[in-house]
Amino acid sequence: MTKQHTLANPVSVSGVGLHTGVRVNLRLCPAPANTGVVFRRTDLDGFVIEAQARNVARVSYATSLMKKGVLISTTEHLLSALAGLGIDNTVVEIDNLELPILDGSARWFVELINQAGLRRQRARRSFVRILKPVEVVDGMKRIVVYPADSFRITYRISFPHPLIGAQSIDFDSASSDYATEIAPARTFGFLEELEMLRKNGLIRGGSLENAVVLDRTGVINPEGLRFPDEFCRHKLLDLIGDFSLLGHPLLGHVVAERAGHALHAQLVSRLLQEKQSWKLVSAPEATEKPISEPTPAFLATQAQ
Ligand SMILES: [Zn+2]
Repeated sequence: MTKQHTLANPVSVSGVGLHTGVRVNLRLCPAPANTGVVFRRTDLDGFVIEAQARNVARVSYATSLMKKGVLISTTEHLLSALAGLGIDNTVVEIDNLELPILDGSARWFVELINQAGLRRQRARRSFVRILKPVEVVDGMKRIVVYPADSFRITYRISFPHPLIGAQSIDFDSASSDYATEIAPARTFGFLEELEMLRKNGLIRGGSLENAVVLDRTGVINPEGLRFPDEFCRHKLLDLIGDFSLLGHPLLGHVVAERAGHALHAQLVSRLLQEKQSWKLVSAPEATEKPISEPTPAFLATQAQ
C-alpha cells in the first residue's frame, strides 16, 4: 500500500476506439519508480504524453489528453483500472489516437493487468491528502471532496428514466473491491441521443458489444444489465480514472451528484490551483510528513 507498484511483465490488447472506430494496438509496459502513467504514440515516433491534469484536452464524452497538438482519446477506463488496481508506474504504448473501448467497462483492462502481474518497487508512494473541502457546482450538478483517511467516493445520479431513476453508490479504497464491484460496469447511452452523437462524428465504434443502450423503457442489450445500478457504478469508474490525473492517489472523500467528466476535471484542476487545500504525504497512516523525493513539476512547489 505504501510502496509504488508497476507491472511485472508487458501485456497487449487490441480493439477499436469508441468514437473514432479505428483499430488500435495497446501495450502496457513496466516502468521505473516515479514515472507515473505515461502514454507513448508508437505511430508518432514514440511521442510521449503524461497522464496528468495539465494535458487534459476536452472532456465532454470522454477524457482525452493532448500535448503539442497530439491527441490520445478516451483514456478514462484504462486510467481507472490502473488506479483501481494500484499501478503507479507504466508506459502505455498505442499505435493510434484512441484507446480500445473493448466491452465498454474496465474489466478487460483489469484482466490484462492481472495477467501482467504487479511488481512492488522500492520507492514510497505519495498521496494527495485533502485538508479542507473543495467544491465545484454547476446548476444541479455538484462535486466536492472532503478530508478522509482513504480514497472514498459517494456517487449519486438521477435520470428521468424508469430503469435508472435515482441511484447512489459508495466506494472505499480501504474496503471495497474495485475489480469485482466497479470494473465490470459498462458505459451507457440513450438511443435517442445516439443519432446526434453519430452526426457529430462520435461513437463510430459504438455497438451493443461495448455500451449499455437504453430506449424509453429499458435496456435494448439482450444480455441486460450486469448490476441493477450499473449506471451509477460506471460513473464512479470514470471518476476514478479522471481523478488519477492528479498524478497521485487521493486521500479524501469525493461526493459527486449528477456529475460527469467535465465536473470531475474541474474539481481536479481546482485542487491543483488551491494548493493550500491539500498536501502531499508519504503514506496514509503517516503523520502527514511532507515527502522529499522528486515530484512532477506541477506539484514541486507543494513538496518541500
Ligand atoms: Zn466511461
